[in-house]
Amino acid sequence: MSKRNRKGDDLILALDLGGTHFRLALADESGEVLSHYEDLTFAGKGPEQGIRRIVGAAREMLSGTDTGSLRGMGVAAAGLIDCEAGVLLTSPNMQSWYKSPLKEILERELKMPVWVGNDANLAALGEHMFGAGRDSDDMIYITVSTGIGGGVIAGGELLSGSCGFAGELGHMTIDVNGPRCKCGNVGCLEVMASGTAIARLAVERLEDGEESAIADLVDGDLDRVTAEVVAGAAKSGDTLAKEVMQTAATNLGVGVVNMVHIFNPVLVIIGGGVSKAGDLIFEPVRRVVAERIMPDIEVRILPAYLGDDSGLLGAVALVLRNTA
Ligand SMILES: [Zn+2]
Repeated sequence: MSKRNRKGDDLILALDLGGTHFRLALADESGEVLSHYEDLTFAGKGPEQGIRRIVGAAREMLSGTDTGSLRGMGVAAAGLIDCEAGVLLTSPNMQSWYKSPLKEILERELKMPVWVGNDANLAALGEHMFGAGRDSDDMIYITVSTGIGGGVIAGGELLSGSCGFAGELGHMTIDVNGPRCKCGNVGCLEVMASGTAIARLAVERLEDGEESAIADLVDGDLDRVTAEVVAGAAKSGDTLAKEVMQTAATNLGVGVVNMVHIFNPVLVIIGGGVSKAGDLIFEPVRRVVAERIMPDIEVRILPAYLGDDSGLLGAVALVLRNTA
């Protein structure tokens, strides 16, 4: 771990807590990461071990730092969060962390104020403060990867709803007769347009006996079909892969149309692993939006700027918002 603070700015400790890895960073007020650390969360073994590793890494990162310059810690966690209490309520990839009081434990162990938020919500705040949405007080951020999450910035503020659950953009219904979603609903945007959906749509057609280069790319093992494999085949000109990407991106576009009509953003930012497919995603989304939104509404659709750091910088932004 290296550390520097050339400008004498206040410092913020940021944690991006996922089911597989956690990432810890010390950043300044401009969002510049001064030091960074990543390790395994061991989410399946319950919160004690994971939190101990996080606290240990944070203490090491802060050793030698003037604690008077620390504004506090922000935590971007993958799951539903009680933002007031800083409790991780439920998380599909961290089920044994059910109702973990992250704020209480981290404040006690690290002796600084801690704020906790949903990672996709905070990524929206991060893009708004440091990324593609810097000049946009009304914007939406969508992350499309294994699942679909997001956040809504309205009038310069992160929309949180009555208990912090606002911005669950992946669970708007796109197809009333669609497949079952893990949230309990059917036909959610997440089961119609996520990376998981792209893989499923491709596998269904391969199982029906359709020809595609995808089968060769995974040596016939359909369990190995991922959105990345499908996107790669599409870029090489494979017809089935191109159609699957088109279907998923069209569904995503329909979701964006719904969001635009509800929130009237000037900007919709799309990030997450699936967005790396570039024009395969962005062209159909832009076309569907142009075809379906009400006349006179204007909105730009842009790729995310912060990439893998969106959660971390969102956590930094959360602390800045609460200590301004
Ligand atoms: Zn759902």
